[in-house]
Amino acid sequence: MSKTCKICKKLQIDDFAPFCSKRCADVDLGRWLKGNYAIPGRDGEASIPANDNPDADPNLY
Ligand SMILES: [Zn+2]
Repeated sequence: MSKTCKICKKLQIDDFAPFCSKRCADVDLGRWLKGNYAIPGRDGEASIPANDNPDADPNLY
């Protein structure tokens, strides 16, 4: 009944389940936090310059 680490597929350690080590738990937490912040952050950053560039070009010519 052994399960494998969600991150590196090694055997899970009970203390760190569902991971094999604190390091893998940190990796998963980091991914989760990044994903949480990246989705709204990227959308906001991408749309502002994208809207600025088409506006700036007609003004220059
Ligand atoms: Zn692992």
